Amino acid sequence: MVTRWIFGNQLCKDLPILKDADKDEDVILMVEAESRALWESYHKQKLTLIFSGMRHFAKELEEKGFTVDYRKADSFREGWKEHKKAFNPNHVHITQVTDDRMRRALEKWEDELPEKIEVHYESEKPMFLLSKDEVKERLPGDGPWQADSFYRNLRKDLGVLMDGDDPIGGKWSFDQENRKPAKSGMDFPKKRTFRPDEITQQVMDEVNENYGDNPGELDSFEWPVTRKEALKALNQFISDRLPTFGTYQDAMLIGNADMSHSLLSSAINMGLLQPMEVIEKAEQAYHDGEAPLNAVEGFIRQIIGWREYMRGIYVKKMPDYKQVNELNHDTDLPSFFYTGKTKMKCMEQSIQPVIEKGYSHHIQRLMVLGNFANLFGISPQQTADWFNEMYIDAYDWVVLPNVLGMALFADGGLLSTKPYVSSANYIHKMSDYCNECPFHPKHKTEEDACPFNALYWDFLDRHEDRLGDNPRMKLIYSQWSKKDQDDKQAIKKKASSLKQQLTKGSFHE
Ligand code: FAD
Repeated sequence: MVTRWIFGNQLCKDLPILKDADKDEDVILMVEAESRALWESYHKQKLTLIFSGMRHFAKELEEKGFTVDYRKADSFREGWKEHKKAFNPNHVHITQVTDDRMRRALEKWEDELPEKIEVHYESEKPMFLLSKDEVKERLPGDGPWQADSFYRNLRKDLGVLMDGDDPIGGKWSFDQENRKPAKSGMDFPKKRTFRPDEITQQVMDEVNENYGDNPGELDSFEWPVTRKEALKALNQFISDRLPTFGTYQDAMLIGNADMSHSLLSSAINMGLLQPMEVIEKAEQAYHDGEAPLNAVEGFIRQIIGWREYMRGIYVKKMPDYKQVNELNHDTDLPSFFYTGKTKMKCMEQSIQPVIEKGYSHHIQRLMVLGNFANLFGISPQQTADWFNEMYIDAYDWVVLPNVLGMALFADGGLLSTKPYVSSANYIHKMSDYCNECPFHPKHKTEEDACPFNALYWDFLDRHEDRLGDNPRMKLIYSQWSKKDQDDKQAIKKKASSLKQQLTKGSFHE
């Protein structure tokens, strides 16, 4: 008898293990394991998304004629034991998992199996553009690698937005056109939302009962939990919101963490949507004249150039990657990350939507939250844990390279040539946050100065040995060296006082 075991982030209708399944003979196993839900103190919406997604997926498989053994158990191991007792399988088919902890748990489980049971690992490919081996081939050696060339080569090989051997539009990136700031009062087409059905409502009740102390609000749950819903979200994004995705991709606006972002990551990362179909729909919108090239290329680059690349870094660098801390940062993450109650408007605006729905967009994650963690010297591991717990789209394989690598430079520049740090200037330019903030974006050392200003220079000063020779930072270091000693002293004094204030809770609302 053959078991085909599907995990909660593998809810993909085109999995090879499903394609080969014999509906009359084989059994699909799905285990809702409490121990997995306890790996971290996950946002209540994340737990709801996965459990509801799994239950819907199981129901759909049954409707298609599969036999599904759906089990709620204390752990995967317990679920497996009960399944084995009931069905006595001699072959188990599993889709390759990316997350290292899960991979190791499976290895251990496999070692303890009786010899008569054979385990077959099959491709995860429809959920990624490349298999693990393929992505490794594209990232030879130990790095550092170049995201740009990874993107260009893969886009060419996939034949996406290509005109023969050349990129459509004559260049590979239209990023220069995609940096327009947002102005207060700007309106963006709303995202598609989904009302919880009976299954989701039942899961929400269970999550409230069993995980009531976990972070995050649950009442406003509106994420797609089925492929049908995810397709509706995708289609609405392509028709209504993709056209403005590019231009305002880096902008931030009070009260709007969505803007023109797709909000598709949760559905893609759990298999409800496949990256290639998302790319194809976006490309088609360009060919149909429904979205401009800067938007379509910008969007497609996120998936080919970033999602796939980040996963490759994870596959190449784990398990050591988890512990990287190049800049030796060890300050504790402040507790307002779990409440959003802080006087800093940019931080409040980037954290509150996470509490409300497990989401804030890329620039909020990178240039506000990541910047804060870097400038205050917060422990990269605590920061990564927070991202892992709180975001609806978070999994180890995508959190670690994004947080430790891209945002915090904790890997010493494996995937970005310099740290993404900035003074208040960037946030002031790209958002309307500073208009409603008690801290002044232009002040450096005054009582009401934005903390990011003194801390930015302090960061550069602290890490001059490590970063001073970086060709991309030469200009900024020459500005620092030109400041007179009194100015430097005042900045460093202010930075030191800000760090003390953080530990005393002064930035809490
Ligand atoms: P859009 O802005 O609409 O982008 C389209 C798609 O591109 C996304 O749905 C996603 O699939 C992909 N994408 C874009 N950028 C990245 C990237 N850097 N890495 C991987 N995929 C990317 N992404 C996650 O999926 N899960 C996370 O837990 C996560 N944590 C992050 C933490 C930090 C500090 C940073 C800087 C980035 C993180 N990202 C993460 C990447 C990115 O911010 C999110 O993928 C994106 O914000 C998801 O929202 P969206 O679907 O509206 O994306």
